[in-house]
This record gives sequence, C-alpha cells and structure tokens, in this order.
Amino acid sequence: MPTPLSRRRFIQLSSLAITSVFARNLLTAQPAHVQADETILVIGAGIAGLAAARRLQTAGYAVIVLEGRDRIGGRVWTDYTLGLPLDLGAAWIHGIDGNPIYDLARQWGIVTSVTDFDASAVYYGADELTDEDYAEVEAVVEELYDELEALKADLDEDKSVGAAVEELLADYGDLSARVLASVRWTIMSEIGLEMGEDLTNLSLWAWDEDEALSGDDVVFPGGYRQIVERLAEGLDIRLGQVVTALYHDGAGVEVETSSGVFVADRVIVTLPLGVLQRGLVAFDPPLPTAKQTAIDRMAMGSLDKVVLRFSAQFWPEELHSFGAADQPEAEATEFWNMAIHTGAPILVALIGGDDARQLERTNEQTVVARMLNHLRGMFGAEIPEPTAYVITRWSSDPFAYGSYSHIPPGADYDDYETLAAPVSDRVLFAGEATHAAYPATVHGAFLSGAREAERIINR
Ligand SMILES: Cc1cc2nc3c(=O)[nH]c(=O)nc-3n(C[C@H](O)[C@H](O)[C@H](O)COP(=O)(O)OP(=O)(O)OC[C@H]3O[C@@H](n4cnc5c(N)ncnc54)[C@H](O)[C@@H]3O)c2cc1C
Repeated sequence: MPTPLSRRRFIQLSSLAITSVFARNLLTAQPAHVQADETILVIGAGIAGLAAARRLQTAGYAVIVLEGRDRIGGRVWTDYTLGLPLDLGAAWIHGIDGNPIYDLARQWGIVTSVTDFDASAVYYGADELTDEDYAEVEAVVEELYDELEALKADLDEDKSVGAAVEELLADYGDLSARVLASVRWTIMSEIGLEMGEDLTNLSLWAWDEDEALSGDDVVFPGGYRQIVERLAEGLDIRLGQVVTALYHDGAGVEVETSSGVFVADRVIVTLPLGVLQRGLVAFDPPLPTAKQTAIDRMAMGSLDKVVLRFSAQFWPEELHSFGAADQPEAEATEFWNMAIHTGAPILVALIGGDDARQLERTNEQTVVARMLNHLRGMFGAEIPEPTAYVITRWSSDPFAYGSYSHIPPGADYDDYETLAAPVSDRVLFAGEATHAAYPATVHGAFLSGAREAERIINR
C-alpha cells in the first residue's frame, strides 16, 4: 500500500505489545512442548510463509517451504534492473511503532529512510496549488471523510465508497474547478491508490475498518529484500515447486507440486487470495463452503509501479511525492521521488484499479508515454525521455493475480477471519488476506504467519 490514510485509527498499546512479542518469539523463543517429530509444509515463500517457517524451525519442527517462483519474497520484490535496488512490490513499513518488520530491521541493522508526507505537492497544469487552495482542499477532504463516516454509520445496505463520495460531492457545487479536481485527486490518492482499487469497487462498510500503526512510514534504500533474505536464512526452501493439489485426512497432508509429492503432518497455506480465487490449487476434501464463499467475494486490487530513471533530476528536489490533479480522474497517478532515498534521479509512478489493469494490457512504450505526458504537464515539454524503466504487472502475475486484498461491496469484513480459519488441525491459512487488523501490508502478512506457527506450537 502506498500511503497511510491520514484518518486511520491507531491501535491500542496492548496490541503494540503483542506485535513486538511476535517479533521476539520469531527468532528466540522456545515453546514448552516442542513437537520436533512433526514435519510442516509451508506453501509460499512470501513474508507470511517465511515468518511461519522461521518460527516453527526455531521451535524445533522440520519445515519445508514450497515456492512456485524462482525467487523468494513474493509480493516483496527488490529489482536491480535500473542499476540499484528498487522495490517493485512493497516498499514501505507503514507505521514503525510496534511494527515487527521495523523491529527486525533495527535488530539486523538494516538502514531505513523516512517518508515526509507533508513534502508532497498537487499540481494543476504547470502550477502547484496555492496555500489558499491547499487549505481549502484539506478542509473539504476532512469534511468529506467525516461525512463518509456518518453515512457509513447510518447505512442499512452497503454501497461503494465511490457512490457515497459522488453523493456527497454533489453538495460542493461552488468549488472552483481546480479545487474540486484536487479534492478528487486527493481522495483517489488516499483511498484509491492506497487500496489499489477504484472507489466504486470498495465497500463503504469496510472502509477504514482496518487498523494502523503509529509512527513514521519508512522505506529501505537498500531494498526490502534485506528483510526477506535474513528471514529466509537457514530455511529449507524449494523454489520452482508450483503447488497444484492438497489432500488431507486425520493422518496427515499430501501436497502435489509440478515436480513431485510432499508428505507432512501439517501444512500452512499462504497462497495469495488471487491464486485461491482461480482454483489453481485443488483441495481434497474441498474447502468448506463458508471459506470458499469468502474467497469468491473478497477481491484483489491492482497497484502497479512504473519506475523511471532519468539522466538528471528535473522535478523539485525537496518533494517526496507529487501528482497532477488536472489529469482524468481515472488516470490518477502519483509520483514518488526516489532521489530522496537513493540519490539517483528516479521516479516511481503508482497506478491503481481499472487503470492499472488496463495498463497491464498496454505496451511499454505507450505506458511510458503516458507517464511523460503527466510529467510534461507539470514540468514542461522539454523534460528528457527516461534512460531506462521497469513496469510491473501484478494482476497478470500467475503467483499473485493482483497486488493485495480488499473488501468490495457485497463482501463482509469478517471474510478476513473466515479465510484465516484452519480447515482442520492439519491445514492452516496465513497471508495478508487473513489478517483483519492489518490486511494488505507486510506486517499483517508477517503476523499472520507467526499466528499460524503459534497455533501449531500451542496445539
Ligand atoms: C505493488 C505493491 C505495493 C505494495 N506496497 C506495500 C507497502 O509499501 N507496504 C506494505 O506493508 N505492503 C505493501 N504491499 C503489500 C505486501 O507486499 C503484501 O501484503 C505482502 O507482501 C503479502 O505477503 P504474503 O506472504 O501474504 O503473500 P506473497 O508475498 O504473495 O507470498 C505468497 C507466495 O506464494 C507463492 N505462490 C503462489 N502460488 C503458488 C503455487 N501455486 N505454488 C507455490 N507457491 C505459490 C508466491 O510466489 C509467493 O511467493 C504492496 C504490494 C504490492 C503488490
């Protein structure tokens, strides 16, 4: 997720304590009843799978991680195509206070760099908004969020965030065109790009039901893979093992992959929601109806990145992020200035929802041309072409089928819990889409893996 919602709820101190305990247990704790004679399979070497495997191995279990890709990390993916580490999946630790990922970064001496959300700019044409414009936009957005909360509290039947926003905006007819466009851009950035989904596909009931950790948001100048690699140290990870079927009964589990069959006492499934939705892994016996219903009605958003390297920086050095409010709303694009964190003249553009899905069907030259069109609108026709670029296509990725989960109208926030429920004491589920407090985040994925490991240990 790119940015935190400014108005999200902050969790209580008691929950903070729990997250830190998980991070500590992961590396050190020994449980009272070690079941060292059991073998556990973990499907997926993303953060959830690695956290689960590491915790179980520390507790004395024999663990094998089956990963379909030829790399570990899943939706944490640091790429070197542009000559330095750049994160094509998750980039931020959202809220460092009590965040287990930040605890690990500190423990392992991994350098982080703070994002300043106040150092962001909205352009309308070639001009940045004036101070008066900013004040008006902020006041209207705050008021709209309050109205959205009130509307949500009174709702008898769910509707989309988009429908509610349009309903409310109808009463703001006296705003100037640039303020109205900037209000729309801000909402799209804070909700749409954050969720990787169009507002019309987001449930109002589910909006802002998740929790947020307080403290700075930070990125890794050296890449998120530093966390992944340290987590994976010493684990038995089998790459290129595409799981196709899972059988289980009272005696154990059998997992079929593209190249063999693995037998174990238990399995933790961390397959992304998008993979579960396509039925790419056959469960025998089939998943319970409630779980299958939750899988079918939850949704994966699409957040894609276009990473552009230039010969020199032409955008304001002090800005952490910026965007153009006068572009069509359906093409809302937010640019992040990686020069702040890496010293290299690199921008990361974020595109979400239907726009991202459309982009994935478009050739690279056309995508880059659109990004340049946005940038030329803000900084002039003479800006240079990029010297190199990388474009993600998360919705077409057969090991993810989307960026991260959300609740659309028609689904229920409790679906996260239903997806998390074990099918028996032998088949357990983890992954970002199973963590109701912190879905769609790295720390949520991590905590879900730790949760399922503890479930096995404490059986
Ligand atoms: C573009 C983007 C930006 C993001 N930004 C942030 C951010 O800034 N901060 C943040 O906290 N979160 C962010 N997220 C979300 C975060 O990346 C995820 O919530 C988290 O990494 C999910 O971890 P996971 O272990 O649940 O799933 P995954 O990382 O997807 O792990 C699942 C693993 O299962 C494997 N797999 C899939 N199918 C099979 C199969 N059939 N057989 C075997 N293996 C299989 C996959 O290859 C993968 O390795 C972002 C995500 C994306 C895509």
